[in-house]
Amino acid sequence: MANKIPRVPVREQDPKVRAHNFEEVSYGYNKEEAMLEASRCLHCKKPLCVTGCPVNIRIPDFIEQVAGGDFDAAAAVIAMDSSLPAVCGRVCPQETQCEGKCILGVKGEPVAIGKLERFVADWQHGDQNTGAAPDGFSACSGAPIAAPNGHKVAVIGSGPAGLACASDLAKWGYQVHIFEALHKAGGVLAYGIPEFRLPKDKVLQKEIDAVKALGVTIETDVIVGRTVNIDELFDKEGYEAVFVGTGAGLPRFMGIPGENLSGVFSANEFLTRNNLMKAFRDDYMTPIHAGRKACVVGGGNVAMDAARTALRLGADTTIVYRRSEAELPARQEEVHHAKEEGIHFELLTNPVEILGDENGWVRGMKCIRMELGEPDASGRRSPVPVPGSEFIVECDTVIMSLGTSPNPLIAKTTPGLERTRKGGLVADESGATTREGIFAGGDAVTGAATVILAMGAGRKAASAIDAYIKGK
Ligand SMILES: Cc1cc2nc3c(=O)[nH]c(=O)nc-3n(C[C@H](O)[C@H](O)[C@H](O)COP(=O)(O)OP(=O)(O)OC[C@H]3O[C@@H](n4cnc5c(N)ncnc54)[C@H](O)[C@@H]3O)c2cc1C
Ligand code: SF4
Repeated sequence: MANKIPRVPVREQDPKVRAHNFEEVSYGYNKEEAMLEASRCLHCKKPLCVTGCPVNIRIPDFIEQVAGGDFDAAAAVIAMDSSLPAVCGRVCPQETQCEGKCILGVKGEPVAIGKLERFVADWQHGDQNTGAAPDGFSACSGAPIAAPNGHKVAVIGSGPAGLACASDLAKWGYQVHIFEALHKAGGVLAYGIPEFRLPKDKVLQKEIDAVKALGVTIETDVIVGRTVNIDELFDKEGYEAVFVGTGAGLPRFMGIPGENLSGVFSANEFLTRNNLMKAFRDDYMTPIHAGRKACVVGGGNVAMDAARTALRLGADTTIVYRRSEAELPARQEEVHHAKEEGIHFELLTNPVEILGDENGWVRGMKCIRMELGEPDASGRRSPVPVPGSEFIVECDTVIMSLGTSPNPLIAKTTPGLERTRKGGLVADESGATTREGIFAGGDAVTGAATVILAMGAGRKAASAIDAYIKGK
């Protein structure tokens, strides 16, 4: 019986070794492991896994191809619904999505859908992919491309939302141009998620190249709202529709004394300087001060990434979080990896002041112990300070990881584009905003969320843009 086979474990780099390098933590499956794991799938008539996937990848179909050893066919199945499988196979929270719904998970362990997706994408990006493609098919994804239809669409932002929207439109024959503010494409995938979870050259760049192979052009170093505005894209450059996928890159701070001291970073800045400016590499002239002892404030995935990065840069690192371990919003896998690598956790603790030395550098953080009170609006028990429990944590770097919001620039420079109270762009289910011809999706609408939700929103908006242009 297929489901009697235990889930095939994935090999990982030794925690003691990886705590000192930026190589990928997980090695992924090899061919034999992937085929064995794929053989566990029951090929359910009503596959719940597909309903759990925000872009509805035809999971049992691609898994069947893996089990039979036809990895190119598996890649072609995935390409029908996803333009970033090597990324999603690595960073999606599968435990709450496809794998969370897998029927095998009811009494045992679900099929390792994410690891299989990663295997297929890596296989396709490997040596066996010659890049040769039959006419009408893209080189990397195997997805069919329609003949050019003469319509131009602008996409703002090259994160997962923008890339997914651009891919679908390009496959349907649109001429798609992406404007990206930074000097590298990829959004958070490039500047936020660290190399040890998502290798940039080996994985991300290949997926971006696959999007470009569909005919999508990407122009970096263009800040829409500064370099050019949306009305100019319509009136002067002849775009018929615009998709805004500008993410939520504006960091929040606590508003406590000492946040302006040298040695205090937002997680976004700390990670960007490491990922995009390669602070971790000796051959780059853009190092970063990780300090001797670093405190990361927050308990989400971004906090885990920042802490694990600071550790690899040589800092003895502590996560400071105001609730208990049960409420940590980070994925369990990330918390487990952080602990294995030697990150300390100071739980039920909140900073009240960052302390500086005579030169204006961080020398420590005054914190207060917390206890859990009544549930708040999120349903989680809210943390309440314990009077008189203040204490000082010695540190020379503080990294604030308290969440991010959408940047208001585009809305402020585009008449008629409305924002919600939380700062996201107002958009309906299809991505249509309050301005005709302008669509939006991903973190720019929802606030900080996930890669696959951003991709799903980008794809929905692509369909709406197609209908809008055809209906004009
Ligand atoms: C450190 C970190 C780790 C994360 N880990 C995970 C994870 O493991 N799994 C997961 O599913 N999600 C994770 N997320 C969340 C996920 O990365 C985001 O939800 C997702 O990237 C949102 O995609 P997006 O396309 O909407 O925006 P983004 O990825 O933010 O991309 C937006 C792009 O738009 C560009 N831009 C912004 N303004 C302009 C402008 N005016 N003109 C031109 N370009 C502009 C930005 O430079 C950026 O490149 C993580 C986030 C962070 C910060
Ligand atoms: S729910 Fe699980 S067992 Fe069923 S088709 Fe999906 S992956 Fe296979």
